[in-house]
Amino acid sequence: MPTEAVIFDLGKVLLDFDYTLAARKFLPRCRAPLPAIVRLLNQSPLLHRLEIGLVSSEAFFDEVRAATGFQGTWPEFQTIFGDIFTPIQPMVRLHAELRSLRMRTYIFSNTNDLAVAHIRDHFPFFRQFDGYVYSYEHHAMKPEALLYEIMEQTSGCRGSELLYIDDRLENVAAGAARGWQTVLHETPEKTRAAVAQLGLLK
Ligand SMILES: [Mg+2]
Repeated sequence: MPTEAVIFDLGKVLLDFDYTLAARKFLPRCRAPLPAIVRLLNQSPLLHRLEIGLVSSEAFFDEVRAATGFQGTWPEFQTIFGDIFTPIQPMVRLHAELRSLRMRTYIFSNTNDLAVAHIRDHFPFFRQFDGYVYSYEHHAMKPEALLYEIMEQTSGCRGSELLYIDDRLENVAAGAARGWQTVLHETPEKTRAAVAQLGLLK
């Protein structure tokens, strides 16, 4: 069956991220030390609750303030928390190339609305997808099957019609278990070669 759509994970595939960038900007206005701020933001239980949609971003802000003593405003928090991303240019170019060949593309991400708002405002490539499935909107995280079902509904595709690129093995494995074609992203060069091998590039 031909590939009908390519699904991209976001973090560490299209965008690199570093929560220590945010933590360093929070630091002068907090009573907590840097390692504690990083721990609170990066892959923490609190972040997980935000990304699975159990707390709103405003409630998340309140919890960060309570834990760190952060003195800034809500708009300052939004800016600092969102500004942790750097485009991975060879992957952004690979996406543009697939678009130019009229391939449908989707974003499939464990993320939160603060990150999405920042990314949408700062990275034009991010608007060039056919659809977006975010964990926080559906109260489920990859590799939970529910989120993969929603991706299939969103794209109208299933099984080997889908090619899925993600840097986390457990996420890729959950896609493969549904019959999706998968690429475990390690480097842009390897992923590009895998996509070319499938005949999707000129
Ligand atoms: Mg990732």
